[in-house]
Amino acid sequence: MSGRILLHCCCGPCSITTIDILKDQGFEVLAFFYNPNIHPLQEYVRRRDGFLEVCGRMDVKVIGRLDEYDSKRWFRNVAFREENRCFHCYADRLERTLSLARRGGFDYFTTTLLYSKFQKHLKIAELGRDMAGSGKCEFYYHDFREGWKEGIERSKAMGLYRQQYCGCLFSENERYAGELERS
Ligand code: SF4
Repeated sequence: MSGRILLHCCCGPCSITTIDILKDQGFEVLAFFYNPNIHPLQEYVRRRDGFLEVCGRMDVKVIGRLDEYDSKRWFRNVAFREENRCFHCYADRLERTLSLARRGGFDYFTTTLLYSKFQKHLKIAELGRDMAGSGKCEFYYHDFREGWKEGIERSKAMGLYRQQYCGCLFSENERYAGELERS
């Protein structure tokens, strides 16, 4: 493969092997961090800074605003549809990535969400393909989970911040609910 690809990144650890795989496949990779789903703000900053660290070390150019954190938009987006919140959360992030990719004349766009074993992989792939349709900027699907173990080891070796929950307050609650019961 060849061409310019805009990679939506959710955090540093998920970006490492994803970037490597895309580069190995011949893409010119640029990275974009857009994740209003990460709560609270301090957690957002930690993940964003980890992402920047990885891009710096791997010599990947970052585009898009880094000071944008519109969590209100995210809450409006999922309000009263919490049961289906991941679909709306993915859609918002992919739509924003596709929009930027089209404006920037990219050949492809994709996301590090396809790296995580904890995400709804097939739903993300389906959403990306549907959004791209037959337009100029294609959705690039790859099962980046093949680099899962290596990505974990390398992120630890780099001393990167590694998050303990997906991002939103709902996921934080699910992650730590057991501790409340035990206390
Ligand atoms: S669990 Fe993760 S993917 Fe689902 S809504 Fe929360 S942050 Fe988004």
